[in-house]
Amino acid sequence: MSSTTLTDAPKSAQSKSNQSSHPAVPTLPVNEIACTQFQIAADHMKLEREIQMVLRTPYRELTVQVPVRMDNGELQLFHGYRVQHNAVRGPYKGGLRFHHQVDVDEVRSLAALMTWKTALVDVPLGGAKGGVTCDPTKMSRHELQQLTRGFTQKIDMALGVYRDIPAPDVGTNAQVMAWIMDEYGKKHGYTPAIVTGKPVNLGGSLGREEATGRGTMVITREACKAFGIDIKGARVAIQGFGNVGMWAAKLIAELGAKIVAVSDVQGGIVQDGGLDLEKTIEHMRATGSVVGMKGTREVSNEELLALDVDVLIPAALGGAITNANVDQVRAKMIVEAANSPVTPDADDKLLARGVKVLPDILVNAGGVTVSYFEWVQNLQQFHWSHEKVNQELEVRMVRAWKAVYSRMERENIPLRLAAFTESLDRVAAAARQRY
Ligand code: NAD
Repeated sequence: MSSTTLTDAPKSAQSKSNQSSHPAVPTLPVNEIACTQFQIAADHMKLEREIQMVLRTPYRELTVQVPVRMDNGELQLFHGYRVQHNAVRGPYKGGLRFHHQVDVDEVRSLAALMTWKTALVDVPLGGAKGGVTCDPTKMSRHELQQLTRGFTQKIDMALGVYRDIPAPDVGTNAQVMAWIMDEYGKKHGYTPAIVTGKPVNLGGSLGREEATGRGTMVITREACKAFGIDIKGARVAIQGFGNVGMWAAKLIAELGAKIVAVSDVQGGIVQDGGLDLEKTIEHMRATGSVVGMKGTREVSNEELLALDVDVLIPAALGGAITNANVDQVRAKMIVEAANSPVTPDADDKLLARGVKVLPDILVNAGGVTVSYFEWVQNLQQFHWSHEKVNQELEVRMVRAWKAVYSRMERENIPLRLAAFTESLDRVAAAARQRY
């Protein structure tokens, strides 16, 4: 087996890292965004080559096939992945994505982001991610359950309460986590701590469902304060109105901001005076999309990104803002609720224009923070109140924000670089002590 060396870095990451300033380069595939960001940070902090080598590639990758007998009687073969990036600070932790575009490269980069995220909010966990290439919107509940149980059996040997703990991500939810817990329990006995994001009835934590949106709200609030944007009356557009986007919308609106536009995979809606969120949610639940909501103007997802707003929150998939559309973006601040929504070349252009980009590993870390609380509650078999969960989340998110902001000021570097170096410092320290 060949050994891993620095030359294994993706070419775009290598060339990027060799440049002292980072001029625009052609748009990268989503799965290289995290690698490039890592390399820029590692170079900036002069991280030793040995530690870089360990952190650049995942510790373990599982690729499995999951045959499922579909409702029409046909056997369909699905491909699933679990990638464990790094566990020097604690067990592997990360979501599970069910989406037709999932591939092992994407899962790999999302797994690495989890390592940086858990370190940044200082929870004793590492980074992992999983996914199955499928379209859950076209599958029946029975088919989804069969797929989830089959996938759980196939990756069972890599899971464990102190080894690897999955959670929901795009296309999965509390119900999927319940099936994983149930399937795992058949072999290992009652083990609620094997997944987080479970239904509260089955040992899930109060506050987990809204945690990523709540964390997004806390970071948006703090950044608006720091950068002189009055959140009261601020105009906000959100791409993606799923778990994260919907909760972020609700909680940011509670601070007095106007959510003027939201979207989902089918398109977006705009209401210049501010959307009625309760009615929008009702409409989405009834019809499956925000599109068609009475009293709103329809826009495409591309047009939503170009709206004249104070705050733009990409909360759908990676690669939303690229070299191709960044010049149209007019927001003063971009809040990365999704993972990797801004490519490094677009990031450079935004930086040059003075647009504040709040990085994903900080903004959306509220989910894994409350997942950590859920895991702790399961291990102790003791339930926290909703209030305690929200308070503890608030404390950790504000602490992470302050650490990133003060590093940004101290070193005169962009927020993303400050977040990555803060996190890499912690991971590297643990790695040095172990190896
Ligand atoms: P979700 O499946 O609940 O919602 C995704 C939303 O994005 C839906 O409204 C969907 O219609 C929309 N969407 C999908 N494809 C789109 C496209 N091409 N254009 C526009 N909209 C599109 O997923 P989620 O859990 O809300 O996750 C959203 C993002 O946040 C992902 O990048 C995910 O990795 C990240 N994230 C989620 C969590 C969590 O706790 N759920 C935690 C951290 C990060």
